[in-house]
Amino acid sequence: MGSVTKIPLVLVDRLQRPVRDLRISVTDRCNFRCTYCMPKEIFGRDYQFLSRDLLLTFEEITRLARIFVDRGVRKIRLTGGEPLLRKGITELIAMLAEIPGVEDLTLTTNGSLLARKAEALAAAGLDRVTVSLDSLDDEVFMAMNDVGFPVARVLEGIEAAAAAGLTPVKVNMVVKRGVNDGSIEDMAEHFRGSGHILRFIEYMDVGNTNGWRLDDVVPAKEIVERIDAVFPIEPVEANYVGEVAQRWRYKDGAGEIGVIASVTQAFCATCTRARLSAEGSLYTCLFATRGTDLRALLRSGASDEEIGETIDAVWASRADRYSEIRSSNTVGLPKVEMSYIGG
Ligand code: SAM
Ligand code: SF4
Ligand code: SF4
Repeated sequence: MGSVTKIPLVLVDRLQRPVRDLRISVTDRCNFRCTYCMPKEIFGRDYQFLSRDLLLTFEEITRLARIFVDRGVRKIRLTGGEPLLRKGITELIAMLAEIPGVEDLTLTTNGSLLARKAEALAAAGLDRVTVSLDSLDDEVFMAMNDVGFPVARVLEGIEAAAAAGLTPVKVNMVVKRGVNDGSIEDMAEHFRGSGHILRFIEYMDVGNTNGWRLDDVVPAKEIVERIDAVFPIEPVEANYVGEVAQRWRYKDGAGEIGVIASVTQAFCATCTRARLSAEGSLYTCLFATRGTDLRALLRSGASDEEIGETIDAVWASRADRYSEIRSSNTVGLPKVEMSYIGG
């Protein structure tokens, strides 16, 4: 008798989407108070962040990551809150980098601690970083991060990341009308020819605290037209199905940019992202109202198989497509905060 070949079953949700990306929030804390994410009025001095015992340990995160990789995850992104505030983050990266099957291990950061940590992150096995930067104008940037953090130190972090080989460095700019849309062309000019990929993100109605209005969104189409008027660009094919950023390249060869039209051109149909909150709840959409507590399972002595079965059941019943059905009725619904499950 020949050996029985195990046929891998592909886990898909109710809209036939596989699970390919896992975003892990490693902390709900942040040293910035971006007005669109953690406004000071809510995340003030008295705000109760998660206590350490409620956070998943590195061993727990790594164990879950392995179980997700067994189900098809190939990309892992660490986020938060500010992931570089989590003590010992390089140890976690080293642990995740050892999991066979992880093709892309990345992290999204506000860049404030990156100049200091880039080399250690790369040495631990991180592949790339995405750095958030909303303007090159100190006045605008400081008003947005709301803690007076200067642009120059984020730029230092970006250069340190590139020097450490965490490339290509992606730079995320959330565009909010009347706040930083005046910085679009300056940002394009600065990052053209740098090798870094600037990505413009439509401001979203995440969480319940940022007072989102559709009027605040600068549509991706408008962003593209404005850049094209100054530095002509042309579209580029997507790298893979499900890539969220629409790619454009400068016709003069100065590199490329991305636009993430999460509001005006929703991409739920190809959304393959699962999210794990810092306290170990699984969310199947950025706009979810409820998660599934995996920490309780981990801490009750469940086996990998049992945890895997729970994940399979959650993913198989997933039908989320919030951005496609966003309307005035959905905007006010309760949702989980972005700083809690990560962007
Ligand atoms: N603290 C890290 C940072 O800022 O890069 C990681 C976490 S942050 C929640 C992840 C990403 O979400 C950032 O690029 C941030 O700009 C983006 N983000 C936060 N609130 C947003 C909103 N309302 N609309 C669009 N993007 C948002
Ligand atoms: Fe912090 Fe990032 Fe949210 Fe800004 S976007 S408050 S840096 S978690
Ligand atoms: Fe994915 Fe939810 Fe965003 Fe749609 S709204 S792209 S399902 S995270």
